[in-house]
Amino acid sequence: MTIHFPFQNTYSALPANFFARVAPTPVASPRLIKLNRPLAVQLGLDPDLLSTPEGAEILAGKRLPDGADPIAMAYAGHQFGHFVPQLGDGRAILLGEVIDTDGVRRDIQLKGSGPTPFSRRGDGRAALGPVLREYIVSEAMFALGIPTTRSLAAVVTGEPVMRETALPGAVLTRVASSHIRVGTFQFFAARGDTDGVRALADHVIARHYPELSDAAQPYHALLAGVVARQAALVARWLLVGFIHGVMNTDNTSISGETIDYGPCAFLDAYNPAQVFSSIDEMGRYAYANQPRIALWNLTRLAECLLPLFDSEQEKAIEQAQTILGEFPEKFTAAYQAGLRAKVGLFTARDGDEALIQDLLDAMAKNAADFTLTFRHLGDAAADDAADVRAQFTDPAAFDEWATRWRTRLALEPQTPAERKAAMGAVNPAFIPRNHRIEAVIQAAVNNDDYAPFEELLTVLAKPYEGQPQFAAYAEPPLPEQMVTQTFCGT
Ligand code: AMP
Ligand code: MG
Repeated sequence: MTIHFPFQNTYSALPANFFARVAPTPVASPRLIKLNRPLAVQLGLDPDLLSTPEGAEILAGKRLPDGADPIAMAYAGHQFGHFVPQLGDGRAILLGEVIDTDGVRRDIQLKGSGPTPFSRRGDGRAALGPVLREYIVSEAMFALGIPTTRSLAAVVTGEPVMRETALPGAVLTRVASSHIRVGTFQFFAARGDTDGVRALADHVIARHYPELSDAAQPYHALLAGVVARQAALVARWLLVGFIHGVMNTDNTSISGETIDYGPCAFLDAYNPAQVFSSIDEMGRYAYANQPRIALWNLTRLAECLLPLFDSEQEKAIEQAQTILGEFPEKFTAAYQAGLRAKVGLFTARDGDEALIQDLLDAMAKNAADFTLTFRHLGDAAADDAADVRAQFTDPAAFDEWATRWRTRLALEPQTPAERKAAMGAVNPAFIPRNHRIEAVIQAAVNNDDYAPFEELLTVLAKPYEGQPQFAAYAEPPLPEQMVTQTFCGT
């Protein structure tokens, strides 16, 4: 007898070439270091049972929950622009799907749970640092209101993993509305398996876009739906200063959630060309390049769907181009609306876009902290500009802009207090800053100390609240704390 999970699996009922049946590999001595209790409840799981030694064994892949049908999903993908026909879950195993308390189907997946037929030369394992990073950042994104996979639990395995040095091994339990990626479509398309592409598209429509099942052209509508969700998602990323870091097509979710947190990081000082990932030497996935890359990835999805669009390829391509052509407008509308809210505008007028761009340009020139500039801008609306001015190496650059901004604000009836409140609800005080994440990882890896991890999670759970007792967490790094590079989770 083991703990029961209320699984209702659908992906493992798809054709056999969609996945490989494989069980997690047991580990020496699992220890639960974090359980996301509210998320457990939302998934219909008992957090008290999951906190028992038996629960830790399940979350480490040492024991299977009742009803599990563990699989590794097949997928392909473009990595930094180069196509790899077979990637797949090389270190992740899907335990199954549950229907959560909101009625949403959710995957429960172990990441770092041992080798699978897709592991290639990898060991199927994850190190503690990247597991903590993904836990922190995915939960921070959730609290910011941005679509994302979630983190249910982190366990240490009691076994080392060999990277450049030996590191403590860990397993993350990841929850997603699904783990279907652009690369999943590419897996079948690359094999000329149109039936596979169709079966996957039907599954995705039923699961993520049920409103499209009655559309006159459901596969066209599916592409349009994914285009819309990705446009909205990437706009949200830019509006909080998030850099995904590895926007490969296998890391692009069909459901529109942020997925696969590797060398991701948030901007401190605003710099549109910012790159943190050590492997992104060409800046392909730089902050401001993300919309362009999202469209590139969506174009790869469209290519997979062409055979479902029209038997005449030229017609199919034309149709795909029309749908992809909606991306720039959708992205820009979401991004500009978000920016207007960030600077406290309630309406849209000619000239707003240029005005806001001038602020961003001044921020870039003056190394202004992205998060704090917008957070403190609300005070400046009420004439207290000290904190926002302090973000600029030359505060006069802000003053010059603020004069024009106040003229624009005066065209709206809202009081400074109303404006400040509205701005506070869209401009977070707390983001998972790199130097904080690094400090958490160091304490855990070097001293087995998880108190900093817990405290950071507490702060990031309420990013829009002032939380004066945690004011230090809002601060950018001191020069000696600056983290300039992040590394992949492998
Ligand atoms: P990622 O860079 O995490 O998106 O992973 C790209 C591909 O490499 C996916 O197919 C992963 O499953 C696989 N992979 C990454 N790390 C490992 C590992 N330690 N062992 C086996 N496969 C891995
Ligand atoms: Mg990946």
